Amino acid sequence: MKPKLFLHICCIGCGAYIAQDLKKDYDIELFFFNPNIFPLEEYEKRLEEIRKVARSEELEVSVGDYDHDAWLKLVRGHELDPERGERCRICYAKRLAETAREAKERGFDHFASTLSISPHKDARALSEIGNKLATLYGVKFLDRDFKKGDGFKKSCQLSRELGLYRQTYCGCEFSMRH
Ligand code: SF4
Repeated sequence: MKPKLFLHICCIGCGAYIAQDLKKDYDIELFFFNPNIFPLEEYEKRLEEIRKVARSEELEVSVGDYDHDAWLKLVRGHELDPERGERCRICYAKRLAETAREAKERGFDHFASTLSISPHKDARALSEIGNKLATLYGVKFLDRDFKKGDGFKKSCQLSRELGLYRQTYCGCEFSMRH
């Protein structure tokens, strides 16, 4: 039997490639927990695209709470931080913490996030946060920088082949200006 992996996913453009790759070794469930995404229409569009691919790949999808106002309170004072700065660290930590907590509660062996595949994400920060949460919650963190081995390029190729939606900004309103 394969180990069970609870995989946080932010968008299908990056997630499809990672999910296909990890499926060989893990029994995966996708977790869409992204209260950072703004506006609601964008959140719904990303979720719908994930559901479509999940159906064809026969993967389960769980959806966390969407409370964007609470997320805004968390990052207050960091609105003007550049991408990869403190606002993003807070955002990674919020999403990974909920993933770890839910993974533990539901008896998964591992948790992980697709976030590290993006060249705009700080893979070292994600690794530090994930490993701390693994200790805190007692569930293993699959500590991978998915952009290694041309991961990002391959994810873009697969998106084109499958005709997947790829958004033009990370997710929050503050990333729209980049
Ligand atoms: S830019 Fe992306 S990772 Fe950073 S705070 Fe906004 S949504 Fe989160």
